[in-house]
Amino acid sequence: MSPIVFATVMGLLGLIFGSFIAAVTVRLPRDEEIVVTPSHCMSCGETLKPWQLVPVFSWLVQRGRCAMCGAAVSPRYMLIECGAAGIGVWAALAGHQAGWVFVAATAVLGWQLLLIALIDAENFWLPDELTLPLIGTGVIAGAVIVRGWPVPQLIGAVAGFGILWLLAELYRRVRGRQGLGGGDPILFAGAGAWVGWAGLPTVLLWACAAGFSIVLTLLITRRKVEMTQKLPFGTFLAIGIWLTWLYGPFGI
Ligand SMILES: [Zn+2]
Repeated sequence: MSPIVFATVMGLLGLIFGSFIAAVTVRLPRDEEIVVTPSHCMSCGETLKPWQLVPVFSWLVQRGRCAMCGAAVSPRYMLIECGAAGIGVWAALAGHQAGWVFVAATAVLGWQLLLIALIDAENFWLPDELTLPLIGTGVIAGAVIVRGWPVPQLIGAVAGFGILWLLAELYRRVRGRQGLGGGDPILFAGAGAWVGWAGLPTVLLWACAAGFSIVLTLLITRRKVEMTQKLPFGTFLAIGIWLTWLYGPFGI
């Protein structure tokens, strides 16, 4: 399959997964049913018609307003759908030479990370329902790609959990307050399950680079950052996992 066709297919798939991801980012923090609740307008509560569920397109056609009550619809869904489509295209372009199995695995990783990163950025929360499956998909992807026991990935999952759990425990003893969320070790286990133990230091480096650029941006725009400023470390880890998976560990 030509890379362009491949990228188009993955982009369209991304739009579909993106609208699901967007729904989960709204419903999970409110503890709403994710699959059962029909999509409805946030203002008038009217259930959306099938054509109004078409990603991006419906928002553009309705010019960002509800067709029933005219209330402004936030571009949030549209932006997340575009983000997920971008991940699909990126996966296809970066991985088409490695074959469709690698591309599919990459897209699955990217969509999971997008969801985790958004939930943590907005709620400072890494639910086990999202981080535990990341470990599962990583081990399965490893096994399918190497067609055997994914040993580096299994070691990576255990090591990833252990390292961040120890760091969190040390920080808590020394500083007397929680420095890392309870979900971070499980997310880092997911990192190890995808990139293998050898990739873990690179994930941390990317995560620190991402965190540092956010702090720098805050310093430039707000000129003031508290030492106790909460930062979504899970979001930074998600960025690190994605880049390490695509571009490999530093120095190897
Ligand atoms: Zn409405």
